Amino acid sequence: MLDVEKIRKDFPILGQQVYGKPLVYLDNGATTQKPTIVLETIERLYNKENSNVHRGVHHLSNVTTENYEAARKTVQDFIHAEHAHEIIFTHGTTSSINAVAFSFGERYVQAGDEIIVSGMEHHANIVPWQMLCERKGAILKVLPVTEKGDLQLEKLDDLISEKTKLLAVTQVSNVLGTINPVKKIVKIAHAHNVPVLIDGAQGIQHEKTDVQETDCDFYVFSGHKIYGPTGIGVLYGKEKWLNEMPPYQGGGDMIKKVTFEKTIYEDLPLKFEAGTMNYIGAIGLGKAIEYLQKTGFDDIIAREQELEEYATSRLMQIPGLRIFGTSDHKTGIVSFLIGDIHPYDTGMILDKLGVAVRTGHHCAEPLVESYGITGTVRASFAFYNTKEEVDILYNALLKVIEMLG
Ligand code: PMP
Repeated sequence: MLDVEKIRKDFPILGQQVYGKPLVYLDNGATTQKPTIVLETIERLYNKENSNVHRGVHHLSNVTTENYEAARKTVQDFIHAEHAHEIIFTHGTTSSINAVAFSFGERYVQAGDEIIVSGMEHHANIVPWQMLCERKGAILKVLPVTEKGDLQLEKLDDLISEKTKLLAVTQVSNVLGTINPVKKIVKIAHAHNVPVLIDGAQGIQHEKTDVQETDCDFYVFSGHKIYGPTGIGVLYGKEKWLNEMPPYQGGGDMIKKVTFEKTIYEDLPLKFEAGTMNYIGAIGLGKAIEYLQKTGFDDIIAREQELEEYATSRLMQIPGLRIFGTSDHKTGIVSFLIGDIHPYDTGMILDKLGVAVRTGHHCAEPLVESYGITGTVRASFAFYNTKEEVDILYNALLKVIEMLG
């Protein structure tokens, strides 16, 4: 069992008031707050250890390089990758997907080929593939979603053809909270020799991730959504793909030898880490993961599921409230609308009552529009949230109805 009172003390930002009301932070899907250990680590690094990695012969550079590589190992263990060099640091989920779309696309995709995404993807897992398709004359196909918010997996076999080069799908929907059966999806795709990229932006913090067990070919996530710093992210790729794919950026640190005639690239992972990396962010991300493991990741997962279920049951008691995403497999996120009240108006009033939620299309316009709406209100939970906060949300929504309903 988690000691939530104690945990909340680890996140100083949560203790504040907004408009004279205690802050109820339910926008964790957009970004999570940072525990003191991560903040202290960043401060210590800049105060005592800062130096560029893989460059110097001197003490500070060696210390930071060791810490950076240790963070890579922490990520490797956390997602159970086979090799540390399969972990590439990037700026975040978006940059990881763009990296694969460019690099994999350059190597493997030609005119007439097909890429499959699902109907519940974030723009970050749509637009880079569209750009690739435009560049190469390839075709983007979409796996549809049911009204409840589940993928129509029975359609996948037919959607895949001998032209399909890659399938990209989210682990957890950032709008609906659906947990997708990624292992099953990979199995179907692999039966057709199609590699799979999993967008873990909303999954890494709510689910135990094992890339070897899932057998996915690529897995991507952002540090800031898992209690780490902004500006750092991860691209996991199976060695066999990463070795074959060309670098997507050239520059310092990613080379073995440069002449004006030809450059020989570094081995993995440096081949994909051109220029000065966000090594402070990577080390901070490593600390965030260590913090989660120390706190008890299984308990964290269970707690977030419990909060989502409690919020769903409370919100369903509100007259006229409609929840979007009613899959049997959900976590962390509840999206809703009350009658015909505009989500933005609901969000504004909730804000004045101290409750921070997200409103709008959540960067998943095709999905949101498929419900015939332009946006929702989204409450998204982290393990530091409490049932009392859900009750505050509930009461604040009654107030919204009183004012606008
Ligand atoms: N995919 C999903 C499912 C997301 O929720 C997000 C962030 N909202 C992203 C991708 C993009 O993440 P980032 O902005 O950190 O690159």
